[in-house]
Amino acid sequence: MTNLELLAREQILVLNASYEPINITSWKRAFVLLLKEKAQVVSEKVIRLVNFIKIPFNKMMRAKPSRNSIYTRDSHKCQYCGATRRLTIDHVIPKSKGGTDDWDNLVVACSSCNVKKGDKMLEQSGLKLSRRPARPRTHLDLTISQTNCEEWKEYCYLV
Ligand SMILES: [Zn+2]
Repeated sequence: MTNLELLAREQILVLNASYEPINITSWKRAFVLLLKEKAQVVSEKVIRLVNFIKIPFNKMMRAKPSRNSIYTRDSHKCQYCGATRRLTIDHVIPKSKGGTDDWDNLVVACSSCNVKKGDKMLEQSGLKLSRRPARPRTHLDLTISQTNCEEWKEYCYLV
């Protein structure tokens, strides 16, 4: 069993009142929140706060992603063909055509898709993205997207 599977088994996902994931906590802490009526049960591994909590800005993702965080978000898989080897990072809108280094323009691509795409726009390349690249709301989105817990993934913006 991987650490992430263990995490999903023993821990509880805490949702904001708006159903946005805000924390992963122990079942003991979750139980206290339920007892104090500060949270409600959503499912076996998910609870939801009764009152909305504002998330501090420093917990939000930085505007510009690192290469590593793009690999993590895309699960180390080519976003065009699903390959897991010889990976690089592709600009969906090529830099030469004004594409930026942002979350919504960078995807993991294998070298053959990267070559095939070259300097073309997506529509002209004949390639298709498996999903639209997006900026995670918080680090928690990245963590949840890596777990095998389907109950949690329902609330993850990236999945
Ligand atoms: Zn590929």
